Amino acid sequence: PVRWGIVGATTIAREWMIGAIREAGGDVVSVMSSDAERGRAYAAENGIPDATTDLSALLGKDLDAVYIATTNEKHKDQTLAAAKAGVHVLCEKPLALTLADAREMVAACRAAGVTMGTNHHLRNASTIRAIRDAVAGGRIGKPLFARVFHAVYLPVGLQGWRIKDAGAGSGVVMDITVHDADTLRFVLGEEPVSVTAFTQQGGMGGDGIEDGVMGVVRFGGGLLAQFHDAFTTKYATTGLEVHGSDGSVIGIGCMTQKPTGDVLLRDASGERKLEVVPENLYVRSVTAFQNALRGEGRPAATGEDGVRSMALALAALESARTGREAMVEPGL
Ligand code: NDP
Repeated sequence: PVRWGIVGATTIAREWMIGAIREAGGDVVSVMSSDAERGRAYAAENGIPDATTDLSALLGKDLDAVYIATTNEKHKDQTLAAAKAGVHVLCEKPLALTLADAREMVAACRAAGVTMGTNHHLRNASTIRAIRDAVAGGRIGKPLFARVFHAVYLPVGLQGWRIKDAGAGSGVVMDITVHDADTLRFVLGEEPVSVTAFTQQGGMGGDGIEDGVMGVVRFGGGLLAQFHDAFTTKYATTGLEVHGSDGSVIGIGCMTQKPTGDVLLRDASGERKLEVVPENLYVRSVTAFQNALRGEGRPAATGEDGVRSMALALAALESARTGREAMVEPGL
C-alpha cells in the first residue's frame, strides 16, 4: 500500500480524506499537528498509529506521499519540504496565497521528480463528469454560457480562520470560487481569459474579508460563465449549468462534497435525466493520485490545475478591488 502522512489535524482529513485513503488501499502512517496533545488525540480518534509536531520527523517515516491540508499559508513551505525529501504531494486548495508561491510549489515538485496533485474534489464527481461528457460529446451543440451556483452556509464549526484570518488565506473567493474555477475549466475544456466580480460582506466575514461574491468569466472560446459563491446562505441550492446552441445540461445539487445530485439534458427532444452512478469523490481523487504514482495516468487535478484555478480566483479578487475587468494570468 501507498504510505501516507497527513499534514494538518483538520476537519477535511477527518471527515473525508483519511477514510478515502484507506478505501483506496493506502495506509495512513502518521499525522502532523502543531499541537502535540491535539495531534495525539486526533491520531487516537482516527486510528492513526503515530502523531508528530515535526514535519521532518513525519517525512522521515519512509512515506510515499503526504496529504497537505493545513491552512493555506502553510501549504507552500510544507510542499517544498516534502519535495526535497522525495515525497509525493497531494495538496489542498488553494495551493498558496500568491501565484508566484503556487508556481514555485509546482516547479519544486517537478525538479524533485515527485508527483503533485491538487485536491479539487468536484472534477471527481459523477455529476460533474456527466456534464463534461455531455459538453465534450456535442450533446448541447456549441457551448455558449455556464452558470455556477455555489452559495452555501459555512458550518458553525468552520467559522474560524476562513472568515477571520486574512493571513491564512481567508475569504469565500479563495475557498469556493477556486473550486468553481477548476470545475468550469474541467467541464468546458477551455481556459478563462478574464473576469469581473463584485464581492460582498454579508455579516459573517471579519474585517475586509468577503463572504459572498458574484462574477462573470470570459473563456477562451468566447463562452461566458457566471458564478455565485457565499458562506452566508442557509437555504440556497447548488448547481452547474451549461447552455449551448442545441441544448442545455443542468446539474442540480452537484456542487458539494457528497456524491449526490442529478443531471438533466434538455434539447429539442425534451428533457431527460442522464445516468449518474454515485461514487465517493475523495476516493476517486486518492485512487487517481495513487495510480499516478505507479505511472498510470495523472492526478485528477495536477499542480498546474491548482495554479490555473487560483489564477482565476485571484483575478476575481483583483476585479472586485479595482472595479475593472481583470485578466487571468497563471504565468505557467
Ligand atoms: P480546519 O479548520 O479543520 O483545520 C485547519 C488547522 O486548524 C489545522 O491544521 C489545525 O492545526 C488547526 N485546528 C484544527 N482544529 C483545531 C482546534 N480545535 N483548535 C485549534 N486549532 C485547530 O481546516 P479544514 O479542514 O476546514 O481545511 C483545511 C484545508 O483543506 C484548507 O486548505 C481548505 O481550503 C481545504 N479544504 C478542502 C476541501 C475540499 O473539498 N477540497 C474541503 C475543506 C477544506 P494543526 O494541524 O497544527 O493541528
